[in-house]
Amino acid sequence: MSQPASQRSTGAESFFDDAVEQLRAAGLRVTPQRRAILELFDHRHTHMTPQGIFEALQQQVSSLSLATVYNSLEVFEEIGVLNRVCAKDGQAYFDPNTQPHQHAVCQRCGEIFDIQIPSSKLDGLVQSLCPAAVTNGDFEIDSVDIWLKGLCSNCQ
Ligand SMILES: [Zn+2]
Ligand SMILES: [Zn+2]
Repeated sequence: MSQPASQRSTGAESFFDDAVEQLRAAGLRVTPQRRAILELFDHRHTHMTPQGIFEALQQQVSSLSLATVYNSLEVFEEIGVLNRVCAKDGQAYFDPNTQPHQHAVCQRCGEIFDIQIPSSKLDGLVQSLCPAAVTNGDFEIDSVDIWLKGLCSNCQ
């Protein structure tokens, strides 16, 4: 996995301030379109598809196109501001939480929730479930992707 060029600071900065700082540090311009996308993530702080972002912003930012949204998201992913999450519905979601975490998805409304599983517990789970050939070094695991499926509190 590629590490972002600059590590996220852990101060009291908002997601938006932090992201703008990282754009500038990477020598990239903060265009009105990029700014609007970052503000949307700052405001909602949830997993969003490029199409969903475009629909949320097209009224507000008349210069925005779906292609610009895709391009901006690729830039944000590259500098480590957003993570790309491939959900089980086959769609790519962009995630403002760039720390390691797992996901739960509501089978009715499609909302995706972050779940924190301590890495020591995850490691133990992998060790206990995988055939010895995997954990003995025939395969090098670099990430674990767990999806829980169910119903969110609104849909139960
Ligand atoms: Zn739901
Ligand atoms: Zn997430």
